[in-house]
Amino acid sequence: LDHDERARRDAQAQVLEGELARRGVDVVALTWVDTSGITRMKAVPTARLRHAAAWGVGASPVFDTFLVDDSAVQGAFSGGPVGDLRLHPDLSRLTVLAAQPGWAWAPADRYTQDGDPHPMDARLLTRAANDRLAAAGLRLSCTFEVEWCVSEGDGDEFTEACSGPAYGMARLGGLSDYVREIVRALVAQDVGIVQIHPEYAAGQFELSVAPGDPVAAADTYILVRETIRAVTANGGRRATFAPKVLADGVGNGPHLHFSLWQGERNLMANPDPESAQIDATPYAASAAVALDPAGEAFTAGILEHLPGLLAISAPSVASYLRLIPSHWASAFACWGVENREAALRLIAGSRGERDRAANMELKCVDGAANPYLLLAAVIAAGLDGIAAKSSLPEPVSVDPVSLPEAERAARGIARLPTSLAAATAAFEADPLWRTVFGAAFVDTVATVRRGETALFQDVDPAEICARTRWRY
Ligand code: GLU
Ligand code: MG
Repeated sequence: LDHDERARRDAQAQVLEGELARRGVDVVALTWVDTSGITRMKAVPTARLRHAAAWGVGASPVFDTFLVDDSAVQGAFSGGPVGDLRLHPDLSRLTVLAAQPGWAWAPADRYTQDGDPHPMDARLLTRAANDRLAAAGLRLSCTFEVEWCVSEGDGDEFTEACSGPAYGMARLGGLSDYVREIVRALVAQDVGIVQIHPEYAAGQFELSVAPGDPVAAADTYILVRETIRAVTANGGRRATFAPKVLADGVGNGPHLHFSLWQGERNLMANPDPESAQIDATPYAASAAVALDPAGEAFTAGILEHLPGLLAISAPSVASYLRLIPSHWASAFACWGVENREAALRLIAGSRGERDRAANMELKCVDGAANPYLLLAAVIAAGLDGIAAKSSLPEPVSVDPVSLPEAERAARGIARLPTSLAAATAAFEADPLWRTVFGAAFVDTVATVRRGETALFQDVDPAEICARTRWRY
């Protein structure tokens, strides 16, 4: 952030001041997401936005080592009470909040007091990863689907706010105004909603939004979550995005959908996307049939690095209560065409729009994941796959847990790590993360994950859910 850039940001804020005043905005919330996946914030009155844009707002770097319960750990590179960073709002994403009158929001990037990027800033890491993609002539289009559960009242117990069957119209019974309010608020905030529906778990709903570039997709995900949270609270209820709300049943999986593009070409589709072959062998197409070779290599890179990537995509102890077989959470490292038990599900799209619609879904992601870190890691793994010209094994077209163990072993379909400790060990053992993000990043993430593992040592599943339910 040199002098010119600060001046540009100041001018940008000045242009926005008038509109904010017209729309009755008094306060602007600046958010960032910490290593443990919690969205933290500081706010400035509208009159202070120009200064915040140019010079930032102070925030301690200790948040890099905060845990889900707000305690902090000490890493070799991060932690402790000393030092300060500056939170700089990205005003290109400034949004007047529809469900929180008088408030606006902007995602923030963390810089040092000298104006250098903070090496642990997740949003800046996503931007850097995206720049590496662009340098390779590629572009990622992505979006998170958001799942959440609604509880009646403001108590800490979870009391599902609606009954009625999963995906059932009956669930809307008492909540149709609530769902409408969410849609209205998001539309007013320029979020492109694709669909919304009651999901499988108790009191659960899901909303999908239109794709964007990686930073935009992560920003939108945070905006959507906080808007849903606010609309829910306005109605006297509570929303939770936690990986597992109740120890039994299914969890909240904000799956990541992505497609890789080269110019106008979608590399998640076959170069001859209208070929009949996917339909001829329903949901069992080989990679060669289903994907462009570069899309295959990118996906194969993610599959290869998946055990360690789990420390980013499923970063809490509660994550492993969700990540179990036959819960559509994807407990196995494999891919498949339209297979909801595969960690990577190829959504081939309808014949006629495959070239636009085909995308890959990463399912082993939960509501504790920092979306920025996740995208930075997914891009790093995908680019590694492209560099290594990796290829995918045969797709899996059944629930992998139904295969005999010997067949799974022969086909290389491994169970993903079953605990945060195991995922952390896999993360530290994979040299990719150190090469791309550096030793300080790896140590900080691993230290936080170890801290959370220790926090829940010998705690039973119901208690883990109770202690994490209202944190995410
Ligand atoms: N709720 C499931 C999960 O935890 C996902 C259901 C779905 O596939 O949409 O990931
Ligand atoms: Mg779902």
